[in-house]
Parts: sequence; structure tokens; C-alpha cells
Amino acid sequence: MDRDGYTSTLAKDLAPGLLERLERYVRIDTQSRRDRTSCPSTEGQLELGRLLVGELRMAGLADAAIDENGYVMATLTAGGSVGAEIPPSKDTRPPAIGLIAHMDTSPDAPGRGVEAIVHRSYDGGKIVLPREGTTLDPEAMPELQAKVGHDIVTASGDTLLGADDKAGVAAIVTAVAHLAAHPELPRPTLRVCFTPDEEIGEGATLFDLVRFGAPCAYTIDGAELGEIQDETFSALEAMITVHGVDVHPGQATGKLVNALRLGARIVAALPDELTPEATSGREGFIHPSEFYGTASVARIRAIVRDFDEDRLESHMALLRRTAEEVVAKEPRARLELDVKRQYSNMRRYLEPVPEVVAAAEAAIRMEGIEPLREPIRGGTDGSRLSEMGLPTPNIFTGGHEYHSVREWASVQDMAAAAATIVRLAEVWTRPEYAHAFRGREPLDSRA
Ligand SMILES: [Zn+2]
Repeated sequence: MDRDGYTSTLAKDLAPGLLERLERYVRIDTQSRRDRTSCPSTEGQLELGRLLVGELRMAGLADAAIDENGYVMATLTAGGSVGAEIPPSKDTRPPAIGLIAHMDTSPDAPGRGVEAIVHRSYDGGKIVLPREGTTLDPEAMPELQAKVGHDIVTASGDTLLGADDKAGVAAIVTAVAHLAAHPELPRPTLRVCFTPDEEIGEGATLFDLVRFGAPCAYTIDGAELGEIQDETFSALEAMITVHGVDVHPGQATGKLVNALRLGARIVAALPDELTPEATSGREGFIHPSEFYGTASVARIRAIVRDFDEDRLESHMALLRRTAEEVVAKEPRARLELDVKRQYSNMRRYLEPVPEVVAAAEAAIRMEGIEPLREPIRGGTDGSRLSEMGLPTPNIFTGGHEYHSVREWASVQDMAAAAATIVRLAEVWTRPEYAHAFRGREPLDSRA
């Protein structure tokens, strides 16, 4: 059967509606802003949130609403053959399943004036975008090389696309609209949430778990077709401040202690082999990401990552020791070091309920895809949500080269993500999954 690169006829049917939604969503500038003073950090996220509420209501999710912090929530009630196969007692009814995506886009590349361009039936060559000479070179992008024949969506070369995570938002809206229009399809109650400010690490902060009411959820925020991610980095952030002694350079002899020079020495003393650019797979790193300096004060922001808590601690100890040793050589300088936990590897929170990841793998297989289970060298809303009591692995969206002007997504793979959500709903009505949370305390009784 010729499916033009689609994983199923369902995916092919869902594709036009999904693409139309993505094109509409990316036009709204929802870039989040670091060091926020309100939630959401930017007005555009509220604009998209209000648009999504309207679309969800139109699709039949009548309770769709946006709260004062910009979180959109909606319910699709159980349907299909659920009631017929499983007696609807409190213990055996399938739990409500959560579907989550984030509305904001990364502050790391321009996000205003995004114009989606669809390159139909990709021929395998370079894709040259109209602005800034931005080029997608398949030689440098093995994932793109594998998408010959797909319809590739890009921006125009001077902005990000915003498939991270509007591809996830579009996949969820498309899937729940399809399920709402087909009441014969089996599904548990689905709870949808679109979060603000994920890209600045705040997506989970004001997430109302009790109101959400689902015992587990999925973020639709991954990349390559078939990905299911149940491991993320554990993450610390360190702020190193060096105080020097500032004196007019003309009178500085024997008096000036230059904080900037000390800060630069700390950065230079960190091992080259423990950087993001020199590590991969399960290796962690120390990444100085910002440096501000004058003669009187220097500030270094560094992020520290590993999948393993002990190794994470040892990277942080190395960073601390390095800073202390450099500053100790100049007794008149003073060092401050603040360490903040950003998020934790979700794996230990997912292990007690293996059905959550197993259901996603079953859904991906139903869509005719071999699941790719790989750790994420980063975090998601799900990292913190899992830690807060909502086990939340991450599922692919079909988007790539996130946070850059080369961001692209395959229509076929985005449609596969939407179809996978439809399958996932069916999987959760099967008895072996529907009973996964039997006897476990619901979140609302802990409130
Ligand atoms: Zn994302």
C-alpha cells in the first residue's frame, strides 16, 4: 500500500488537520523570557492559550479553560467500549490519562514573525531557506537524510519554527478532536494540559496536579519518530561569584585584585573532556553558560548534568574545588557559590509503574513503529512533574534541530505522533493497563 511515507492510514487522515493547526500556532510569538516576573513570562503565550481553549471547545471538550497562570486544561470523557468490557467500579475503571505539551518556544533563537514553509516530497538534497542563507544540509543531519519523500516543514531561515513544542500541541489537539468525533473508539478519560514557560524551566512550577487529576501523563515533546523517553538528566545550576578589589589602574600597583581575571582562570581550569561538546550518551558534563565580569566582580553561571546522582555530585564537587583553588591563590579575593537543583532524572519515579512506559511502547508498535527508548540529554516538564508525583515520560513529535533557525519537522512523523496518541487511548482501556493504578492512592486524597 502506498502511504506516501505515512505510518498508517489513520496518520494520513490526521495529517492535513494537524499541519493546518501547526501553521496557525507557529504564527503566534510565544517565546518565553528568562528571569520572569509573571507567569506566563510573555503575553503571546496567553494569546495561544486562548486560541487553544476555543479550538478544544469546538472539538467537544466543553470544560476547556485557561487559568490565571496561563495553563490550559480540558477533559475528554471516557468513551467507546470501555464501559462494556470493564465494569465501571471505582477500582477497575481505567484511570484518566494526561496529555501535556508546552506552548512557549525557546528564547535562544528569534521567535517573532515565524512563517512555516512546507517542502513537499523531500528529494534528499539541501533545503535552502529564503532568508539569511540558512541551509538544511542532509550531510550534517542524518535524521533529515532518512526523510526522503516526506513533507518537511521549516521556517524561513531567520526564526525558529516552534515545532518545539507546537508540533506536540497540534498532535494532541488533532488526536483528541479525532477521538471526540469518533465516540466508537475506545478511550479512557483524557486530561489535556498545555503549559507555559517550559523552555525557561518553569513549566511544572504552577501546574495544578490535583485539578489535573490524572495519575500519570505523557509529554508530547520529543523528536525522532518512535522515541519514548523515560530518563532525563538530573540537573544542578551553580552561580559562582568572585569578588576582587577594584582600584584605579593608575594606582593599582600591589593593590588591584582583578575578579574578571580570576573568573577567566576558573573557566579555563575546567576539564575540556567534561563539556557538552565532548560528551554523549550517558555521560554528564559541566557547562559554563554565562560569564559576566569587571575588575571588581565576576559571575559565572554553570549548569551541571548527569543521569546518575553520585556522578552529578562529583561533577559539582569538581566545579567547587576548581573555583576554590583558583580563588585561594589570592587571599584578598572572595568566593561565593550558590547551587540550585533544577530537576531530577525521572526514571526512579517511573519504575514503580512500568505500565506507563509499556502502554506508550504498545501504542507506538500499534502505529507500526519500532519504539526507540533513549535517555534525553536534557529535561522536560515531565522531569519535574514525575518528581512532584505525576509519572510523565516523553513521546516523540517528529520535530528536529530545536532552538535554532534550522528547526524542521516531518508532516508524516507529526501525524504518526497524533495517531500514536489515538492508539495510546485504546491501549489504556485494556485490562492489564486499566488496572495499573488499582489500590494506589489518588493524588487528590493526598492534597
Ligand atoms: Zn520542548
